[in-house]
Amino acid sequence: MRRKLVAGNWKMNGLKASLPQVEAIAAAAAAHPGVDVALGLPATLIAPAVAVAGAMPVGGQDCHANDSGAHTGNIAAPMLVEAGAKLVIVGHSERRADQGETDADVKGKAEAGHRHGLDVILCVGETLDERDAGQAEAVVTAQIAGSLPDGADGAWLSIAYEPVWAIGTGRTPTEADVAAMHGAIRAKLTDLLGTDAASKLRILYGGSVNGANAASLLACADVDGALVGGASLTADKFVPIIEAAA
Ligand code: 13P
Repeated sequence: MRRKLVAGNWKMNGLKASLPQVEAIAAAAAAHPGVDVALGLPATLIAPAVAVAGAMPVGGQDCHANDSGAHTGNIAAPMLVEAGAKLVIVGHSERRADQGETDADVKGKAEAGHRHGLDVILCVGETLDERDAGQAEAVVTAQIAGSLPDGADGAWLSIAYEPVWAIGTGRTPTEADVAAMHGAIRAKLTDLLGTDAASKLRILYGGSVNGANAASLLACADVDGALVGGASLTADKFVPIIEAAA
């Protein structure tokens, strides 16, 4: 039985003034021990957030495939670990688009995170053009095949299905489309890893999740949690999503 994971992705948002939100979200997480809750924060906020987050894991939103080196502006998994991170998000569509990250890059990042003991949330998702062309499942399963880390055999890895056209737009796929895609992802993972290993991985839905739609999205077949952007920035919006998963 997979536990539900509700993870927030703060993207490029959050100064120390937001630490009371982290604290309030952590309090809600502690009050709902049946659901896993985590936050992916800007790197600068990880250490101060750890100081107020209690048992709730916090982490980063990217790491380099290498542990150190001449890569100006990048962050390595051991740096996240030293800051207190327990997880890392890799392959978000904003990084695939803005930084040109390929599936192979994302695979290396996921493997680096795992090598240093971080849980990994690996993001995949199709664009609107790809969906309209009937290629959504082919695109997403190809992303999985190309970016799945070696040794993907445990609950440390979650796949986040985030249709690019649903991110920050207020639009979500139908429940039938979510269930179909999550089923296709589970089938692809089963092909690649075998039934046992594939059944341990959580598949999260992400894209315009909010307090009003969370319960119905989380009830879809093969949806094991949510990756939440805008609605994770404040406790008043994020806590109802945690409650919907509990
Ligand atoms: P929104 O919840 O703001 O649509 O963002 C989703 C997302 O990209 C999470 O990683």
